[in-house]
Amino acid sequence: MPQFIDTAKIWIRSGKGGDGKVSFHREKYIASGGPDGGDGGRGGSVIFQVDDNMSTLMDFRYKKKYTASPGESGGSKRCSGKDGKDLVIRVPRGTILRDAQSGQVIKDLSDAEPFVAARGGRGGWGNSHFATPTRQAPRFAKPGLPGQELEIRLELKLLADVGLVGFPNVGKSTLLSMASAARPKIANYHFTTLTPNLGVVHIGEGQSFVMADIPGVIEGASEGAGLGHAFLRHIDRCRLLLHIVDAAGSEGRDPVDDLEKINNELSQYSIDLEKRPQIVVANKTDLIFDEESSQLPAIKQWAEEHGFAYAEMSAATNQGVRELMHMAWQALETLPPVIVYEPEFVPEPVDKPVTEDTISYKRMNEYYIVEGEWIDRLFASINFDDYESRQYLDRRLRAAGVFDKLEEMGIHDGDPVVIGDMEFEYER
Ligand code: GDP
Ligand code: MG
Repeated sequence: MPQFIDTAKIWIRSGKGGDGKVSFHREKYIASGGPDGGDGGRGGSVIFQVDDNMSTLMDFRYKKKYTASPGESGGSKRCSGKDGKDLVIRVPRGTILRDAQSGQVIKDLSDAEPFVAARGGRGGWGNSHFATPTRQAPRFAKPGLPGQELEIRLELKLLADVGLVGFPNVGKSTLLSMASAARPKIANYHFTTLTPNLGVVHIGEGQSFVMADIPGVIEGASEGAGLGHAFLRHIDRCRLLLHIVDAAGSEGRDPVDDLEKINNELSQYSIDLEKRPQIVVANKTDLIFDEESSQLPAIKQWAEEHGFAYAEMSAATNQGVRELMHMAWQALETLPPVIVYEPEFVPEPVDKPVTEDTISYKRMNEYYIVEGEWIDRLFASINFDDYESRQYLDRRLRAAGVFDKLEEMGIHDGDPVVIGDMEFEYER
């Protein structure tokens, strides 16, 4: 039996930028041409996009890793490498991306706007960029910047104006099928609804709302398995709840007791949900033949006591359904819009310039150690077999004040120093 998957954890990585190329112009009969190494291409990004044909996160159950392709390296003749291909991940509307570690919201995917969750690394410059009047043959280029890695928790919180709640078999799916074009499974046994069904209810010209039949709100209860608050997540953003009861008690249950139980569940989930406006709907009125023993007055009284609106219908015969939908529409007009979560977590941009502030200095025994991201990046671009390239490194370190700082720390010529991956004797 398919299961309704509404959370998942995945791992995404954008592509690394392509490396810049070291190359020199070659032409017949022309001696030593200038540098013509092209730039690396940008790495592909990982992008999320809402897909309204999806209603669960099932696809993420087995596939956990999502990697965009890297940018290609630069070529000769100043040819830039091709950009890496973006990876587009499709998710149902209402999927919330959270940083897996902190749980903070990265993005609530509620609109059609594509969202770049991990940007591809920038491509490195080819050696043609590094030619200067005094350095006509630069034998080095920049490596591409790394991509971004993120572990993301996906959480589906459906976006619907109206949520249907109630015990199994009270007629939620029947109502949705009567009021909208949605065709949920309807059957006279429990556990029918395993994926949420959304339907659009048209009231009039340009007037419509989205109604959701949510699986399993209470299914676990009958088994004593607890209600699985996970399901309540889906009604968390509904602006209005239609609380359906089987007024005929056709399964031998007490409707007022049912109302009470479901409401307890809602309040245990959150105060917000407890306070959410409701219309209490007494369904299956077509099965009520005996006025005397009718539960309708008791249900109505319960609704009034709790400050909720009240309606009667027979979803099966469509009696009262239209009226109920109008009532819901009128209530919605007075209610605030669907909650959309604001981002709390902003991943560090990959293109963030790495500054000299990242350099750190320490002393271990007789060693002076200089490290940090700025150093790593600089070292990655150096061709140590090339004299000019080493000269360039020296100048950059000097300009960054690395040597001054070491002297301040008391370094002397001949002391061992470790910078990046290199160990050497200090020499001013
Ligand atoms: P859900 O579990 O709440 O989604 O309930 P369903 O919509 O699947 O309905 C459960 C059973 O009750 C089905 O056999 C329906 O045909 C039946 N049912 C739903 N509404 C009514 C109604 O108003 N009158 C009668 N007689 N049966 C109904
Ligand atoms: Mg159902």
